Amino acid sequence: MSANSVAAAMLSDDERAFLDVVRRFMAEQVVPLVPRMEKEGRPPPELLPAMGELGLLGTYLPEAYGGAGASLMTRALVAEETARVNAGLDASIFVNISLVARHLANHGSEEQKRKYLVPLIRGECSASICLSEPHGGSDALSPRTVGRRDGADWLVDGSKTFITNAPISAFFLVFARTSGEDRRADGGTCFIVDRDMEGLSVGEPFDKMSLKSSPTAEVFLSDVRVPAAQILGEVDRGFHYMLEGLDLERVFEGASTVGIAQACLDVAAPYALQREVFGRPIAQYQMIQDKIATMAMGIETARLMFYHLVRALERGETVTRDAAILKLYASQVAVEASREAVQILGGYGLMEEYQAARLYRDAKHHEIGAGTSEIQKIIIARETLKLYGG
Ligand SMILES: Cc1cc2nc3c(=O)[nH]c(=O)nc-3n(C[C@H](O)[C@H](O)[C@H](O)COP(=O)(O)OP(=O)(O)OC[C@H]3O[C@@H](n4cnc5c(N)ncnc54)[C@H](O)[C@@H]3O)c2cc1C
Repeated sequence: MSANSVAAAMLSDDERAFLDVVRRFMAEQVVPLVPRMEKEGRPPPELLPAMGELGLLGTYLPEAYGGAGASLMTRALVAEETARVNAGLDASIFVNISLVARHLANHGSEEQKRKYLVPLIRGECSASICLSEPHGGSDALSPRTVGRRDGADWLVDGSKTFITNAPISAFFLVFARTSGEDRRADGGTCFIVDRDMEGLSVGEPFDKMSLKSSPTAEVFLSDVRVPAAQILGEVDRGFHYMLEGLDLERVFEGASTVGIAQACLDVAAPYALQREVFGRPIAQYQMIQDKIATMAMGIETARLMFYHLVRALERGETVTRDAAILKLYASQVAVEASREAVQILGGYGLMEEYQAARLYRDAKHHEIGAGTSEIQKIIIARETLKLYGG
C-alpha cells in the first residue's frame, strides 16, 4: 500500500492526513455506489455535491471561489484514490476539476468565475472540454470548428466528439479556430457555451468499452450565437491556454492511472493469498509471485515519479519530457497490471462480478485518452533529441 512506500515520505503531514480522509470517504461513500454508476452510465447526482461539501473537489483551487488553496498534490491524491475505486468517476471529475475548473481559474473573468467555477467546485454541476473532432483528436490544433464575429457576438459552428460529461454538462469549453492556420497555436479561441444556447445539441451517450460510469457523447454546434463576454481569456489565445496546461494534465493523468494499477494489485494479491490450487495458495507459486512483483514494481515507480513531478510543478518547473514519460509509463503499468489481475483470478477474472474485468477495460483508456501513447513517444523523442542538440 502506498502509505508504506518510499513515495509516502514525500507527503507533508497535512497531505497524509488528507489522504486518510479521502480513502475513508472512498471506502465508505463511493465503493457502495460503483455498481450503480457503472449501470447508470454517470456519476450518481448526489455524489459530486457530497465530495464538494467535504472539500474533495476544489482542493488546489483558489479559496475565493470555494477551493482550499492547497497544494497541487492534494488534487493528484484525490485523482489516484478516485481512480482506484472507479476510473469512470475519476474521468468525469478529472474533466470538471483538473481541466475546466483550472482553465476558468487561470483565465476566467470575475463574472465567469462566479457563474461557472463556484458551482463546479461545489459539485453542483458538470462541464466539458470540447477539443477532439470526428476527423481526428491527436492533431488538436487543426479543428474544423470555427468561430466568426457577427456584430458584438460570435457564431460558433462545427462538431466535437468523445466529449466526457457531454450528456450531463451544464456548459462546455469549446475550442474553435478563429484565425490563422491548421497546426498553429495562434488563432484558437475558447468559448464558454451554455447547454441551453440555441444551436447546441448533444448526441446519445456512446456505448463504450471503458469508463462506463463517465458519460461521453458528441457535441454539435450549429452557428451557436455566443456573446463576446463568453470568451475565456483573450480571442485567438485559446490553444495557448490548452498547451500551457498539458504538463500538469499529464501528471494528473499519471496519478489517475497509478490508481487503476493499484486497484489491480488490491484485487489480485488478496485473491492469490486465499485461492488454493493443487493444495496450496497460488501466492506460493513463483509464476504468480512474478506477476505480483512486476505489478508492485511498476506501481511504486510510477507513483514515485508522479509525486516527484507534482512537486516540480509546484515549484513552477517545466516537465514536458518527464510528464510524457509518466503518462506513457503509468498507462503501460496499468494495462499490464490489469491483464495480470485478470490472469491471477483465472475464470473469475472474466466475470463482471469481480473488479478485474472492469479494471482491464478501464486501464486501456489511458493509452488513448488525453493523448495517445504514440503521441507521448513523439514528445519524449523530440524532447530527448533536443538535449543532444536536435
Ligand atoms: C472515453 C474517452 C473520453 C474522451 N474525452 C474527451 C474530452 O472530454 N474532450 C476531448 O476533447 N477529447 C476527449 N477524448 C478524445 C481523445 O483525446 C482522443 O481519442 C485522442 O486524443 C486520440 O484522438 P483520436 O481518437 O481521434 O485518434 P487519432 O488522432 O485519429 O489517432 C489514431 C491513431 O493514430 C495514431 N497517430 C496519430 N498521429 C500519429 C503520428 N503523428 N505518429 C504516429 N501515430 C499517430 C494515434 O496514436 C492513434 O493510435 C476522449 C476519448 C475517449 C476514448
